[in-house]
Amino acid sequence: MKKILLASKNSDKVKEIRLILKNLPLEILSLADFDEMPDAVENGATFEENALIKARFFSERTGLAALADDSGLEVDALNGLPGVHSARFAGYHADDITNNQKLLDELKKIGVNESAAAYRCAMAFVDTDGTEFVTNGKIGGTIKTVAKGSGGFGYDPYFYIDAQRTMAQLSVDEKNLISHRGNALREMALKLKERFT
Ligand code: IMP
Repeated sequence: MKKILLASKNSDKVKEIRLILKNLPLEILSLADFDEMPDAVENGATFEENALIKARFFSERTGLAALADDSGLEVDALNGLPGVHSARFAGYHADDITNNQKLLDELKKIGVNESAAAYRCAMAFVDTDGTEFVTNGKIGGTIKTVAKGSGGFGYDPYFYIDAQRTMAQLSVDEKNLISHRGNALREMALKLKERFT
C-alpha cells in the first residue's frame, strides 16, 4: 500500500484527514511517527506556496509522498491581513488570545466593527516522482468585534458564518462540512483517488 506522510503534528487535523481519505489504498503516516523532525521554513507569500514548501520539505526528508496544508484568515478591511501571518499575527509567541486581541486592535484603529472576511486553505501533495498538485478551499463570512461560542479554534469566535452564528458555535462535524479545510481536503481526496485507484 502506498505510504503518504501527512505533514502535521496536530492530532485533530490528522484524524480528520484520515477519515476523509479512509477508502483509498493509502497508509497515512503523520509527523508523530517520526522523531525529531525539524520545522519547514514557511516563508511563502501565499497559502499555496507555504503548503508546497511544507510538502516538498517533508517529502525530501522522509523519501515519502507528502501532503501538507496551510490556512488562514483574510479580512477585507485589513487588506487581506492576517493572511499567511494568521498563526503569528500577534508576534512570535502569539496564541489564539493574543492573535484575536491584535485583530480587534487593528479593526479599532481604523474604526471598523464589521468586515467581510474569508478563511482560506491550500493543500499540497508532492510525490516521490516529482508530481505535485494543490487544491484550495474557502469559506466567506463576516468578522465582527463581538465574540460568540467556545468551539473551534483561532479566530472562530469572531467569524460569523451568517447573521447569527459564528464558526465557534458549530460542532466539529458541522464545521468540517463547510470549512475551507474540509473543502480543500475533499477536492484533494478526489485527486488522490484518481491517482491511486
Ligand atoms: P495552520 O494552517 O494550521 O498553520 O493555521 C494557520 C492559522 O490560521 C491558525 O493558527 C489560525 O490562527 C488560523 N486558522 C486557520 N484555520 C482556522 C480555522 O478553521 N479557524 C480559526 N482560525 C483558523
